[in-house]
Amino acid sequence: MADATTETSGGSQMSLTMKIMIAMGLGIVVGVILNAIDSSFLNTHLVAGFFAMIGTMFVNALKMLVVPLVFFSLLGGVTGIGDIRVLGRVGSKSFALYIATTALAITVALVLATLIGPGRGFDMTGLETSDISGAEAPSVWGVFAAIVPTNPIQAFASGEMLQVIFYTVILGIAVLMLGGRSKPFIEACDYMNEVMMKIVDLVMRAAPYGVFALIAKTFAEQGISLFLPVMAYVVTLVAALFIHLFITLPTMLKTLAGLNPLVFMKKMRPAQIFAFSTASSNATIPVTYQCATERVGVDKSVASFCIPFGATINMDGTAIMQGVATVFLANVYGIDLGLMGYITVIGMAVLASIGTAGVPGVGLVMLTMVLGQVGLPIEGIAIILGVDRLMDMIRTAVNITGDAVVTSIVAKGEGKIDLDVFNDPNAGMVGEGDAELPHHAIA
Ligand code: ASP
Repeated sequence: MADATTETSGGSQMSLTMKIMIAMGLGIVVGVILNAIDSSFLNTHLVAGFFAMIGTMFVNALKMLVVPLVFFSLLGGVTGIGDIRVLGRVGSKSFALYIATTALAITVALVLATLIGPGRGFDMTGLETSDISGAEAPSVWGVFAAIVPTNPIQAFASGEMLQVIFYTVILGIAVLMLGGRSKPFIEACDYMNEVMMKIVDLVMRAAPYGVFALIAKTFAEQGISLFLPVMAYVVTLVAALFIHLFITLPTMLKTLAGLNPLVFMKKMRPAQIFAFSTASSNATIPVTYQCATERVGVDKSVASFCIPFGATINMDGTAIMQGVATVFLANVYGIDLGLMGYITVIGMAVLASIGTAGVPGVGLVMLTMVLGQVGLPIEGIAIILGVDRLMDMIRTAVNITGDAVVTSIVAKGEGKIDLDVFNDPNAGMVGEGDAELPHHAIA
């Protein structure tokens, strides 16, 4: 099958991944130049006008795929596993690993932030601290109760991913229980899954333009001056995110699944670029799923469950941001968090990451909740607001990498990873022409 992350086999044309990376680089250059020019005409019509339009259309096209793709691939996955016990094992293993990686991520972030100590001696003069109201902390029980939808159509329509996953798994189990009679339905779902993946291919063709527009817009709007007052926060946060991305996750992948992290990272690069450009784990689900199945070699039965599940409940990068931001703001306000404070931050960040979906900026909303719990002023958010979009982009790339690492570890444990695909550098790099409409198609 053609692939979202398609590379050409012929060699004369540039690979799609390459094009997307060039688009990203160009987007940064154009955005920085536009920011320096700061023309109100260009800002209105090009940045907030044309670029915003292209970027929104592209992200909408990705989001349009998420619910139907998850539904059909997960139905195929559940019926493909065929054994409810295996399903339970995949579910509990991935849940435990997702929680463990998030807790590990935030612990490392807290330690690093405490060692570096960003925010000590911070000068608050000239900073506007507008009114920001805090989000309510979710109760553990409430988070779990909300997994069961009252109305599945509503859950699908509003994209409540945990509810969509729950309903689809139940439906898949019921289909399995009906045995032989379900065969035509299962085949239809497999077929629809392939149709969805074809639409992913089509949307991907627009990816270089979409990525360019999103990145150029962000950089045109984000001046470098925003970063200077909070440089210590940015540096600490990026360092913690990189430690997770380049040390913690690769070590887990190597020790728990015996997979080569360098090969893995190269294969996940398209999904990381999409996460970076869209700042949304949810919108990136189609690309993460495709990279995991067609490039890494994870069986669809595992990826169809673990990838959307991870995009919803696993946010390592977001937890890291919350850890660093809490320590930074505690230093700014000269408040001592104490051991209990740190433990509260860890617990709240893990809970918040389960209870909220992977969409842009949600991490900041969750941060208000964490700050409230440890008694820090919520207005502190205003200090880091200016740099949050760029930080969101980086942490979302970390979030989806964590999803794919856990998915691969679970798949390896279940014997559901095709090592030939993993070891084949060209896997998932089929000719781009595959997504063309064949001449006989409408005959
Ligand atoms: N944008 C992040 C995600 O979608 C969540 C956040 O940190 O705001 O994964």
